[in-house]
Amino acid sequence: MLSDLTKGKLIIFAAPSGAGKSSLIKKIVESSDGKIELSVSVTTRSPREGEEHGRDYFFVTDEEFNALKIDNAFIEHATVHEYQYGTLKTFIDEKTNSGKDIILDIDVQGYEQIKKSFVDTISIFILPPSLEELEQRLKDRGLDSENVIKKRLVNAKSELMYAESFDHILVNDNFEKTIEYLKLIIFDEKKSYDSRKSNNILKDLLDK
Ligand code: 5GP
Repeated sequence: MLSDLTKGKLIIFAAPSGAGKSSLIKKIVESSDGKIELSVSVTTRSPREGEEHGRDYFFVTDEEFNALKIDNAFIEHATVHEYQYGTLKTFIDEKTNSGKDIILDIDVQGYEQIKKSFVDTISIFILPPSLEELEQRLKDRGLDSENVIKKRLVNAKSELMYAESFDHILVNDNFEKTIEYLKLIIFDEKKSYDSRKSNNILKDLLDK
């Protein structure tokens, strides 16, 4: 597979929920002068307060999602926390053909599918500083019930096992610092920076 330099690339972000991924992505998009956009996925989950159809997600029924699957409309799709999520081929083609880089905020199953068929990708896994901190962040944001938080923590453990298949692993213990690293990776395409700390934290989290 050869890379086409006129096309935008895909920047894949994955993280356990509560690791701070959405705020990091928002800041990177804002700092990109319109060069980077966030992909709008299709999902079967209901909108949360303040979310808008077409801006945050395309909210669809299970039947509509299944019809899109049959039409081969997705570059990847997965079931996450009991709902279906997918990235639309047409959305990605249109944006990358116009030279825009696109951020995909997807789960690890989605990344496994994308890395088989796309060359121009940068993949980044965001780690929370600790599982205790992750639990606290999920409680503080007040979006989920205790039961859902428990489920998200169990999922977090299994997602961490995939972290090593990403190009970059970053621990989000300090927002400004993490943004600095992300800018090096995304805007300057740096391949190496000091990743020892992230690797040590990943080891700690997996050992727990
Ligand atoms: P939320 O429902 O909290 O917005 O997202 C839950 C999880 O689904 C997050 O980990 C998010 O990255 C993942 N997700 C969102 N959109 C997609 C998608 O299009 N494909 C995949 N595979 N995962 C997605």
